[in-house]
Amino acid sequence: MNEKKWQGIGASPGSAAGPVWRLPSLEQAGVQLSEPTGPLDSSEQLGRLQQAIVNTDQALAQYEEQVRSEQGEELAQIFAAHRLLLSDPAFTGEMELRIKERQLPAEKAARQVADEAIAMLSSLNDPYFRERIVDIQDVAHQLIQHLGAKNQNNEQFPASGQWIVVAEELTPAQTISLPKERVLAFIVRKGGKTSHAAILARTYGIPAVVGLNSGWNELSAAVGMKLDGTAGWVQALSAEELNHVQDKTKSQDHDPKQDTELEASRFDVILAANIGNPADRTLVKRFKASGVGLYRTEFLFMGETLPSEEEQVAAYEAVIRECAPHTTVIRTLDIGGDKKAPALHLPVESNPFLGVRALRLCFRDPELFGTQLRAIWRASAAGPVAVMFPMISNLEELRKAKEYLAAAKETVLQQGYTVGELQVGMMIEVPAAAWLAGKLAFEVDFFSIGTNDLIQYTLAVDRENHEVAELYQPYHPAVLGMIAQVTKAAQAAGIWTGICGEAGGDTLLAPFFMALGIDELSMSPGLLPHMRQKLAGLDQAQLEQSKLVERILDCATAAEILAILQVYDEGGHEYANKGS
Ligand code: PEP
Ligand code: MG
Repeated sequence: MNEKKWQGIGASPGSAAGPVWRLPSLEQAGVQLSEPTGPLDSSEQLGRLQQAIVNTDQALAQYEEQVRSEQGEELAQIFAAHRLLLSDPAFTGEMELRIKERQLPAEKAARQVADEAIAMLSSLNDPYFRERIVDIQDVAHQLIQHLGAKNQNNEQFPASGQWIVVAEELTPAQTISLPKERVLAFIVRKGGKTSHAAILARTYGIPAVVGLNSGWNELSAAVGMKLDGTAGWVQALSAEELNHVQDKTKSQDHDPKQDTELEASRFDVILAANIGNPADRTLVKRFKASGVGLYRTEFLFMGETLPSEEEQVAAYEAVIRECAPHTTVIRTLDIGGDKKAPALHLPVESNPFLGVRALRLCFRDPELFGTQLRAIWRASAAGPVAVMFPMISNLEELRKAKEYLAAAKETVLQQGYTVGELQVGMMIEVPAAAWLAGKLAFEVDFFSIGTNDLIQYTLAVDRENHEVAELYQPYHPAVLGMIAQVTKAAQAAGIWTGICGEAGGDTLLAPFFMALGIDELSMSPGLLPHMRQKLAGLDQAQLEQSKLVERILDCATAAEILAILQVYDEGGHEYANKGS
């Protein structure tokens, strides 16, 4: 076998080997726009476009509903946003205008407007807008298909068999419309771990490697492939090797929706869920999470209007009640960076991840922050709850945030509300906070390590930019060293530590986190069964005996660390001897 492994980004755990089906890229599938044979009737073209808009909207509404019932509200919003685009005057309105004013055929008007929007967004050096390009391509593509145009390359997914889907880029609609029970895995050239397709793959439990820039050309002729969606590598298989692949089915052989019932009984660790929408609380029960370790409240602020205090109380209480007796950790507003809130009309920043984000924004808008904190206090009467502050980089910020919290409590008590116990914690996601952990630990009840940002800020790698995706390394010695230092500082101060970034759901890192004594791992709900399974194969005493922490902290490169962690991925109990 050609042993060469091409490294991408592990976007959804599990491994697979099997035949490849290549999804035509949207450009390749570029629609054949036939030239009009006679004079065009603009009102007829307008009618065709409007009908196509209605049909596309119906199809998207179906996807939205399907995803809402299967996976929850947050993912359904991807399709809700696509439907909004269909009614955007700057998008479909402009297409109508061109049909009227330039007598264009409907397909051509749609293509032109979409191409111009894509060109405009590509020229902006903003990761958020770059991600939106895929959305525009997706919607335009569907619209043109509904106009009845033929794809030049209208291959359909094979009628039978199980396939690894290889795509230049994968849109949410493509992901959702494939027969997922026959998709072994996804391999995608573009996009990062947080792209919509990656999130969908994780929630559906389909292994995926994304951001596979290196090796793309070399792999272009491969008839089969093998991949590891946890470690993020891909290997080519020849036709002969493919015939010999014994296990062409997913080694991720359980449906993540069904709990494996494997309990992480040998560890005291709490396995919690990350959610972003009150409606996602149903996933907490479905995946048997022990509470919510990260409730991203930004979602409530992304609509056209800001949520009132009452609306926030209801949104927080609903989750707290569902999780009780387990704890819900509510993170205060983290708008800025990649997270937009149109209703706040914030100025565009050239470097939003380093700008007025999260607490920095809240301190500038005391009414916004105060309303949220009052709502959290009022909801605290509904069950066990904790609050945590994002993006803290110094002690003063933490103290100031706590002052706001104390003032909010005072106000709600004066208003006659009852409040419950509220643990107060902070995220460690800025390297400065990790460095200061020994001081910060004495002022909070817990730390929650936000590895998504901690990696980005430590390694100076934009978490959304696939051009530098290879440098975004969760296994980097500096990142794991910082996590170890933070955990030690927390233990010395007698507070608990959780991990709520993507690394928290990374089964490869689980032995390291267990050996460190991390108290809580919080992750996308769909990852919980994988984590339970992994933990069931580990043993604390053996981890200590094999001196895992020392060996990892002794490494100089991510590759060395990965090599150690992969030994622990083989399961069983032999690992104690293997790596030492
Ligand atoms: C993180 O940074 O790891 C985190 C959990 O927060 P977010 O991804 O919302 O920035
Ligand atoms: Mg963060």
